[in-house]
Amino acid sequence: MHVFKNKKLYRAAIVSVIGFMCTPAFSQQQFFSIGTGSLTGVYYPAGGAICRLVNKERKEHGFRCAVESTSGSVYNVNTIREGDLDFGIVQSDVQYNAYTGVADFEQEGAFENIRSVFSMHSEPFTVVARADADIETFDDLKGKRVNIGNQGSGQRATLEVLMNAKAWTTDKFSISTELNGSDQVQALCDDNIDVIVYVVGHPSAAIQEVTTSCNAKLVEVSGDEVETLIEENPYYRSVTIPGEMYKGNDKDIETFGVSATLVTSADVPDNIVYQLVKSVFENFEEFKQLHPAFSNLKQEDMMHKALSAPLHKGAEKYYKEKGLM
Ligand code: GLU
Repeated sequence: MHVFKNKKLYRAAIVSVIGFMCTPAFSQQQFFSIGTGSLTGVYYPAGGAICRLVNKERKEHGFRCAVESTSGSVYNVNTIREGDLDFGIVQSDVQYNAYTGVADFEQEGAFENIRSVFSMHSEPFTVVARADADIETFDDLKGKRVNIGNQGSGQRATLEVLMNAKAWTTDKFSISTELNGSDQVQALCDDNIDVIVYVVGHPSAAIQEVTTSCNAKLVEVSGDEVETLIEENPYYRSVTIPGEMYKGNDKDIETFGVSATLVTSADVPDNIVYQLVKSVFENFEEFKQLHPAFSNLKQEDMMHKALSAPLHKGAEKYYKEKGLM
């Protein structure tokens, strides 16, 4: 089949394709991707903030960053391992489990090539219930309709840890759904479920939505099992979701939590990781303003706090150059 009806047009097309390929933008640009989470979580806008800062200077360094909405932490690790994502945002407990080959990663074994880039915001284990569900604490979830989270998400992974610690199975709940971070919001407001569990930074769009549109209430998560989890695992700590952050939720809420971390693979070239870190650290005030969950971030914490996998060499190079380590 001849797409080009005459030779002149054909030649012109070839010349313009070659011309395009020879422009600096085409020949130098190299894409990389960041796996995040569902659209109303914090990972997705966090990945967007990183890419925005990288892409701002893409003419100088030639890298172009793309953000992908995904199922969450466990999915991101597995997809980086397969080489289909370059970076991913993952919970610090999931990072630890991947590096050591436990829990969700037992079958595949330790992902020895997983590398830390930096840590970011705190992510409390956040339980939110319908106001009419008669739920005050986590133990009141027994017999209720609970969204346990989609496969591949960090909340599913951490909820399983807490349920194991309590020797609970999903039989404790009258219904358990596997909705992702965004779909669970509508389901709670539509009275299809009583409770959502989300390991997420605050404020998050999803929690804002359920507290403003359907009066949902944050639920305390405490007790012996939670204390033991915090004592036995370096990546869990006791955290408070401040009162008045969400409409109708004036009291401080005690729970436990992790940190969001950016990870990659040792196979990702040093210059890409170096450039990503440089773009974020050299535009740090702008970065912090891109999402309210970033407002308390401190550069000096980000290269060691909550990281269990070794730093990627490209990130380490930047931190050393800047005298940050
Ligand atoms: N912590 C969740 C996860 O690992 C995602 C939270 C978010 O999207 O902000 O899947």
